Amino acid sequence: DFILSTKGLRIEPSITLEITAKAKAMKDSGIDVVSFGAGEPDFNTPENIQNEGIRAIKEGLTRYTPASGIVELKNAICEKFKEDNNLDYKPSNIIISSGAKHSIHNALLAILNPGDEVIFGTPYWVSYPDLVKLADGVPVYIETKEENDFKFNVEDLNRVLTDKTKAIILNSPSNPTGSIYTEEELRAIADWAVKNKVFIISDEIYEKLIYDNNKHISIASLNEDIKNLTIVINGMSKSHAMTGWRIGYAAAHEKIVKIMSNIQSHATSNPCSISQYASVEGLKGDQASVEEMKRHFVERRDYMAETINSIKGLSCRKPEGAFYIMINFTQLLGKTIKGKEINSSMDFANLLLDEAKVAVVPGVAFGDDKYIRLSYATSMDNIKEGLRRIKEIVEE
Ligand code: PLP
Repeated sequence: DFILSTKGLRIEPSITLEITAKAKAMKDSGIDVVSFGAGEPDFNTPENIQNEGIRAIKEGLTRYTPASGIVELKNAICEKFKEDNNLDYKPSNIIISSGAKHSIHNALLAILNPGDEVIFGTPYWVSYPDLVKLADGVPVYIETKEENDFKFNVEDLNRVLTDKTKAIILNSPSNPTGSIYTEEELRAIADWAVKNKVFIISDEIYEKLIYDNNKHISIASLNEDIKNLTIVINGMSKSHAMTGWRIGYAAAHEKIVKIMSNIQSHATSNPCSISQYASVEGLKGDQASVEEMKRHFVERRDYMAETINSIKGLSCRKPEGAFYIMINFTQLLGKTIKGKEINSSMDFANLLLDEAKVAVVPGVAFGDDKYIRLSYATSMDNIKEGLRRIKEIVEE
């Protein structure tokens, strides 16, 4: 009989795992499953970036780097912040980590004391609650609504404010909803955060995947006061199809970055040296491939939103960014399809997998049981076939 970590035992396994494991087992046994589960671009890393990785290996740039990252990449990140977000940072404000998830983990470890509360909206990105718990914090949820484009506002924040409130996690564009906060909405949240001395962790990992005439604004760029309270999170995974390379980064006040760097120096040391050199090319090299991937995402999103809204019993809002669509299936609640009653997002996801051979992520994984999430980081052929199967079973 072991006595194990109480904190460790409180960390939940990913709910999405159950259904993705089932989908994989079905595929392995030869069943033709269409998967909408992917949380990563279906494109290969652009060739110019691949080549820089190869060059780094050949030139022996394969040793430890400074724990917080190489200065070449920090400089490239500072240039990116200036150019894209009108934010002035120095290399001392930057820490590079093994993915944006790692950056968020470091950020929470650097600012939280036991019992501190961290606010974010539901539906949320799966890892936020457990990352907060790992850092001894307490997640505080604001339930957002589809009719408000899944966004929260200052009134919502006032309702959950306590003397333990320490930070807000903002995710714009959002996974899973694709929603984007406007400048005006961000200004109101920024003023509230400054007034109440609350940190903002601004997860901007989907910044480059933004469609139509929508604009990405970093909350840190609004004024000096909010900049001092904000830890901006970004990374290479989604924008440059580099999920496996594991490079994310954070920009914040030097005092915060110093703590994050000290923590990282003991926990993991530097992020992969090869990936760091390749990322310099990712940020400074030709961005044509980023634009090309975006064109595919827009086309797929348009097709999906239109098709889903034409299926009786289902609806969705057209997301402004990222590569996910939330399907509202509340009209099907209580109904029985193929002898199975639908009472939850897990029921609906299981039905689609078992009977239509389509894998989706149940909304319960994001704290909202009224939806399922479909990723459009998959080919148009898959999308067409997958939606055809969904339509067939739902309209039965
Ligand atoms: N933040 C959000 C909202 C995400 O969806 C993801 C990946 O799914 C990440 C952060 C982490 O990305 P990575 O650790 O690959 O940089």
